[in-house]
Amino acid sequence: MAKKLPKSLAVLDEDLCTGCEACVSVCPVDCIDTEPGHQFESVMQFCHIDLKRCIGCTLCAQVCPWDVISMVPTDQVVQVEKFAQALA
Ligand code: SF4
Ligand code: SF4
Repeated sequence: MAKKLPKSLAVLDEDLCTGCEACVSVCPVDCIDTEPGHQFESVMQFCHIDLKRCIGCTLCAQVCPWDVISMVPTDQVVQVEKFAQALA
């Protein structure tokens, strides 16, 4: 049986993430990683959230100083193809 998903999932706007890592340290299931930035690889990074492991606790959205993480109802998240693929 497929894993039961939480009511909402953390969706990150990677284009606006500064890579400050505040969210990384609070995630209780360690599902946020940093990745090198696309344009300025040596100085910029951004975060990536593994939606499959997100438990919807909202902590990352609360601590992000730039408000670039939104808690989105899971039934809306799965309508977006790239997120549906990430959850498959
Ligand atoms: S909502 Fe919670 S579990 Fe999901 S990515 Fe944010 S801190 Fe991690
Ligand atoms: S707290 Fe916000 S700005 Fe900082 S790394 Fe996480 S998503 Fe990016």
